[in-house]
Amino acid sequence: MPAFLAFSAAGLFLIRLVFTTAESPFFKVAALIICIGQPLSYLLVGLSDPGVITTPEAEGGDSKVCTKCEMSVPKHARHCRDCNLCVGHYDHHCPWVSKCIGGNNLIRFYVFLGMTPIYFIFMTVAFVICMGNNVAKVPHLSKTP
Ligand SMILES: [Zn+2]
Ligand SMILES: [Zn+2]
Repeated sequence: MPAFLAFSAAGLFLIRLVFTTAESPFFKVAALIICIGQPLSYLLVGLSDPGVITTPEAEGGDSKVCTKCEMSVPKHARHCRDCNLCVGHYDHHCPWVSKCIGGNNLIRFYVFLGMTPIYFIFMTVAFVICMGNNVAKVPHLSKTP
């Protein structure tokens, strides 16, 4: 959750910055979509169920026994040491969202993964442009000697 707060706070700051300094409406819309989309994608992963196995699988063919949960789970499941749970189609445990990534939230996770670099690149570009606009508006700073 601290990562989420940092993402959202930075996003809100950036929206404010873009809306107070940028003139292009396209830029403002892009800022809204990216700055809301990224924390939203984070939230969607964070609140999702990765596919936690709660009921024991029927023993036999496609199951195995998890020694830590002490129950039979599907073969594709793996035990997560961080969550102490078995997750179906386990991919990995993501420390950023402090959640397992499994069969049920893998697509959401990829959206989050795609949004994050776009967010950081946009943030850098927007910051540079907006700061440039600010400097241009202050007469004594923009004057070339
Ligand atoms: Zn387990
Ligand atoms: Zn986990």
